[in-house]
Amino acid sequence: MDFYRPTFAAIDLNAIKMNILNLQTHINKPLEIIAVVKANAYGHGAVKVSKAAMEAGASMLAVATPDEAIRLRKEGIESPLLVMGASPPTFANVAAELNIMVTVFDEMWMNQIPPLSHLLKIHLKLDTGMGRLGIYSENHLQSIIQLIHRRDDIELDGVFTHFSTADEEDQSHYKEQMSKFKNFLRLFNDKPRVVHAANSAAALIRNESLFDGVRFGISLYGLSPSAYVSGILPFSLTPAMSLHTEVAFIKCVPEATAISYGATYRTQQSEWIATLPIGYADGLLRGLSGQEVLIGGKRVPIVGRICMDQCMIRLDEEVPIGEKVVLLGRQGNEIIHVEEWAEKLNTISYEVPCIINERVPRVYIP
Ligand SMILES: *Cc1c(COP(=O)(O)O)cnc(C)c1O
Repeated sequence: MDFYRPTFAAIDLNAIKMNILNLQTHINKPLEIIAVVKANAYGHGAVKVSKAAMEAGASMLAVATPDEAIRLRKEGIESPLLVMGASPPTFANVAAELNIMVTVFDEMWMNQIPPLSHLLKIHLKLDTGMGRLGIYSENHLQSIIQLIHRRDDIELDGVFTHFSTADEEDQSHYKEQMSKFKNFLRLFNDKPRVVHAANSAAALIRNESLFDGVRFGISLYGLSPSAYVSGILPFSLTPAMSLHTEVAFIKCVPEATAISYGATYRTQQSEWIATLPIGYADGLLRGLSGQEVLIGGKRVPIVGRICMDQCMIRLDEEVPIGEKVVLLGRQGNEIIHVEEWAEKLNTISYEVPCIINERVPRVYIP
């Protein structure tokens, strides 16, 4: 390993592959699996994840921004690639040259595109109830379709929408979005090659939402979109990321010893206190004070405030310096799930791998 601090995130590429294979088995018919690798593959590393996903049978990749797409092309990823967010008109020529597909939802954008030297493939985005990006009226859709027909340098490859509540038990809004989407689709004389709507939640639990493809994000990484979906998963997901460090220092201190900034924790008796070389600047946010970590296959608590680069844990017994610590993932029979952090931080599973930042090296398990 080419780093000295023993703090790293292990990324199990086989888990990524398993999640795709299990999804394919569950869906049980040919379908485009669009691997969503935005935000550096939800913190897992976009290049490695893209390759693993394509190897496992994904047929397309999707990112959020033009720059994420350019980076993948520069790193040699040649797969079909869609930018799902907004791209400025100035990106159109670059996108066409690099064979990057862009998302279109605005007539003005179409009018601003200069004649292109290469064919630009686009996907139309329809807003059926997310309220974010998308064509939201049939008139707009009709005129944008006409604008596309007038261009021989632009090809309509796909059309899609995005659900805002597919991970919830109450299906009313989801059903409204489905019916709006179907109404929009009636306005196409020629259906584009790929009609797609489902995110992970819909791909897992809403079979009628599959159309020609699914955009598989959070569950590609083995995480559930919500607690509700966790309870009714059609197959078990395999988390890809685990987070590791090692004991940097250990001492036995007397009762009433103050630990960390603010001296908010004082030992209740003579205690073994170990220092770990990981802190909030790595993504172990201060809100995780009190969270447990795994050492010797057992759960022990983080005590006192989490510092920028370090934190302290309380042990029942002495361990050697260099003893392995798992902050996320399995050790022995114990496991700490991303969802446990998410609950402690009052957020969703999505946010957790995204906050494990660049200072933490990613080590890939092939
Ligand atoms: C992020 C994103 C997805 C993936 O959603 P998951 O819930 O992570 O599967 C799909 N579509 C769009 C438009 C997105 O922005």
